[in-house]
Amino acid sequence: MKVCKFGGSSVASAEQVAKIVEIVMADPARRVVVVSAPGKRGKDDVKVTDMLISCAEAALAGQDCERPLADVVERYAEIQRELKLPGGITAEIEKDLRFRLAGDRSHCGGFMDSMKAAGEDNSAKLVAQAFLACGAKAVYMSPREAGMLLTDDFGNAQLLEESYRNLAEALRKSDGIVVFPGFFGYTKDGRVATFPRGGSDITGSILAAAVRADVYENFTDVDSVYPVDPRLVPEVKEGIAAMTYREMRELSYAGFGVFHDEAVIPAVKAGIPINVRNTNRPQEPGTMIVQSRRVLAGSVVGIASDDGFCNIFVDKYMMNREIGFGRRLLQILEWEGVSYEHMPSGIDNVSVVIRERNFDPECERRVVERIKRDLNPDAVLVERGYALIMVVGEGLYYTVGMAAKTAKALSEGGVNIEMMNQGSSEISMMFGVKAEHRAKAVRALYKAFF
Ligand code: ASP
Repeated sequence: MKVCKFGGSSVASAEQVAKIVEIVMADPARRVVVVSAPGKRGKDDVKVTDMLISCAEAALAGQDCERPLADVVERYAEIQRELKLPGGITAEIEKDLRFRLAGDRSHCGGFMDSMKAAGEDNSAKLVAQAFLACGAKAVYMSPREAGMLLTDDFGNAQLLEESYRNLAEALRKSDGIVVFPGFFGYTKDGRVATFPRGGSDITGSILAAAVRADVYENFTDVDSVYPVDPRLVPEVKEGIAAMTYREMRELSYAGFGVFHDEAVIPAVKAGIPINVRNTNRPQEPGTMIVQSRRVLAGSVVGIASDDGFCNIFVDKYMMNREIGFGRRLLQILEWEGVSYEHMPSGIDNVSVVIRERNFDPECERRVVERIKRDLNPDAVLVERGYALIMVVGEGLYYTVGMAAKTAKALSEGGVNIEMMNQGSSEISMMFGVKAEHRAKAVRALYKAFF
């Protein structure tokens, strides 16, 4: 059995919904279809989820919601009309939205989640109708009936373990194609709760794990995952055919935007292969993400980069002999609630790399003061404006000279390496460079490895 997830752009218009129907009907193994809310139809369009958030905010502020409500209904009505589906579905969607709007507003988070969830819930109902209209046997499945239980962290809910059993049973009992709304579930006391934004990917991955799917197909609007960001290297043509879970994790950590690496944890834990594919070009095989794969020595799967990092550099003569130095340094960050990303070190100095967004100037002042007071260093320096470049590939583990090749490419590209760190897994090398050298560095590495 295959679980397929279609993102917002794949349900944005009647034309796109028709593609979903065609793709799913082309393969009888595609039994579970998870859908997002309609996304943007073009660059300046607004996602239905964002429209619903504005609508809920207006309601909470006591403003009139007729206009935003009508706009949301129209997004679905347009698809219904163009696909010539029965008009009753649009009336049902409007009724559902009015019901949610009239719901309990005493808990803002709960009210907001109920509104946000309407996007995927109605999308699933509409897509189920589209299948029926084409003669396919399909049903909409409600996450409530399926037992998709979540914690009550509204907007950031987590799955309760027992859901797996419930979902497996509900999906196995069902017949034909099941259309399941992404992004939300229910708390034990029956309230709607949503995952973080982009959470339909989480739903898809949970369902794939629950039914032990042969593959989790994640349909989006790109042919495959590219080894490098096409905005930095426009000439990149060939996508990645296959990569391992570990490679995906390293790449998505450092800015690969295909999906949030946390979203696929359920599928990864269950060892389900993930296939990233394009709704607009379903003939393309896409990128497979698997537990293990055969790798060629010296091959690099991708080069990722991200900026917005800063570096706390601490220097102290004989640091290596001072028991507990590292622990006390990290303890200071822990007290401030700051998580760190990397920690390259030498005998007398250590750097702690953190995301700038987690380290405002006030927090920096307190941390530096505390380091000076508690650790008595020779120097503490905070430098902002760093980019991290990650060179990733299982092949790095087996091959001699990869660091040399990378450093040579960077030096030939005129990039000064400020920091380097080879991950303990040995499948990635991290380089810290000044943010303004990021694009130059990525291009130099792309040229060297691809
Ligand atoms: N519709 C939700 C969002 O825009 C969830 C999703 O599309 O995955 O965040």
